[in-house]
Amino acid sequence: MRIVLLGAPGSGKGTQAKLICDYFKIPHISTGDIFRAEIKKMTPLGLEAKKYIQRGNLVPDDLTISIVKESLNKSENSDGFLLDGFPRNIYQAKKLNLLLTEDKKYIDKVYLIDVTQDVILERIGGRRYCSRCGASYHIRFNPSKLDDRCEACGEVLIHRSDDKEDIVLDRLTVYNKAIQPIVNYYKKLGILEKIHGDANPSEIFSSIRSSLMVV
Ligand code: AMP
Repeated sequence: MRIVLLGAPGSGKGTQAKLICDYFKIPHISTGDIFRAEIKKMTPLGLEAKKYIQRGNLVPDDLTISIVKESLNKSENSDGFLLDGFPRNIYQAKKLNLLLTEDKKYIDKVYLIDVTQDVILERIGGRRYCSRCGASYHIRFNPSKLDDRCEACGEVLIHRSDDKEDIVLDRLTVYNKAIQPIVNYYKKLGILEKIHGDANPSEIFSSIRSSLMVV
């Protein structure tokens, strides 16, 4: 099963990605997570990506596509995957299709998690992230039982610098500009499904799960 998850920053994409991947036992490919891991390791790719990420801009397509291509070529992703955070523009969407069709593969389903801007700002404002294991929390909706530390590994939780409100507003502007052509593209291919994302995570997951049962 090959799935793409689309949604604004704070739409709950990451949470749904984890639920879907655990339930359907498919690998999770998140371009944001890959970039954050590279930044942490201070690799040349990470240092380059950081310049864009910290300003709320997209990392250039050539860099981003090269990491996706590398992921798709890994044997553990050859039978299926869930892509989270990619594609982020129409060029990336077309390139993804090309990479897959060269290999006689195709995307089964694209979900667009649709959320209002007020909900996004509330969600991102309270989001806390573990830079060691990648777990994510929310100070109101999903607080850590260890206050400011990660329940899984004990690391101090952080508020990602690109989750600060001024940067989030820039990220939303970038997202809103790019999303419509991507949506139109997948609509034409007949694989797009819009999911109402203001509901709670388990309700959202249950609509995605029912829809994927019939794929
Ligand atoms: P995310 O965790 O998906 O919100 O991604 C964090 C940041 O990584 C984004 O704000 C972008 O700067 C960068 N990024 C992630 N995915 C992509 C992509 N497909 N194209 C370009 N930049 C990306």
